[in-house]
Amino acid sequence: MELAGFYGGTSAGWLETIERWTSDPTHIEGSDFIEVILELDLRVVSVRLSPVIMGDQFLGTVSVFRDITKMVEVDRLKTEFVATVSHELRTPMTSIKGYADLLLLGAAGEISEAQQRFLETIKQNADRLSHLVNDLLEVSRIDQDRVPMRFAAVPVQDIMGSLQEHIRGRIEDENKLLELHVEVEPDLPDLRADFDRIIQIMHNLGDNAFNYTYDGGRLTLRARLDGDKHGVVMQVQDTGIGIPPEVGDRIFERFFRGDELDDLVLDTPGTGLGLSIVKSLVEMHNGSIWFESELGVGSTFSVCIPIYQPEEEQV
Ligand code: ADP
Repeated sequence: MELAGFYGGTSAGWLETIERWTSDPTHIEGSDFIEVILELDLRVVSVRLSPVIMGDQFLGTVSVFRDITKMVEVDRLKTEFVATVSHELRTPMTSIKGYADLLLLGAAGEISEAQQRFLETIKQNADRLSHLVNDLLEVSRIDQDRVPMRFAAVPVQDIMGSLQEHIRGRIEDENKLLELHVEVEPDLPDLRADFDRIIQIMHNLGDNAFNYTYDGGRLTLRARLDGDKHGVVMQVQDTGIGIPPEVGDRIFERFFRGDELDDLVLDTPGTGLGLSIVKSLVEMHNGSIWFESELGVGSTFSVCIPIYQPEEEQV
């Protein structure tokens, strides 16, 4: 118990595990361990406890203490640096984009064909940069736990309707030959979600499906009640380039881009941050995300969002 006091509030979970190890050593697995991060005054210590067993006997634990103060500090500085730089880049970006638009509209006099071409290149690249800056800002917000979640009842129809409209808009604006299908189960319960964030999640999955499918392909948006009825599964299916099995969950890593996989990825402006942001936002909803894919056949991304949020149930 003295130790429990020292470890502060984090102790309950691992005390339980140690009790389980003591009372039932036969179920201890070789890879079992507990990792706790302790903040002691100005130092941060990582403690890793592993069980020591001999035959069926639990002999005790080995604890490795590691002072990770420097690492935590460097990580914090990195996040702060990224946040500050991306924030500072936003203002000049907005102005470059705005003035390129004004010039293109002829606000400063007539422009020649060559000038128009150059201005369009400026605008395209300014858009790319501002996309990158916004994604970086979002990542640093996530790292600093500064994404406020405002949970409210959100009708699934509203989410799927907005997604459908978004993709239809892109199909028209970019003249891409894609079929769009929507299959939403009737009478789905509302989700407990942050409306803007859930829209961001689904638009991002829709954008990927749109981007990574060649002309002539088909996108299908689906929503259905989850098997165990605690959530709603929303899916975006495409008949696009697909993801090879060896890539697997690396697509959710920050900055991962499959540019060597297909020319379509190379030709699509992107940061490789989209899915990592989507995954964090889904987890903030206590939901889950997964995908199935076959190379050259297509991919299906699924998101399950709960109907209730655990912290709200207690209220
Ligand atoms: P970005 O789209 O900016 O590259 P993401 O994090 O959204 O970043 O996606 C990471 C990578 O995952 C993409 O570069 C692409 O290779 C792959 N990917 C994502 N969605 C799909 C999809 N629907 N079909 C095929 N590949 C995909």
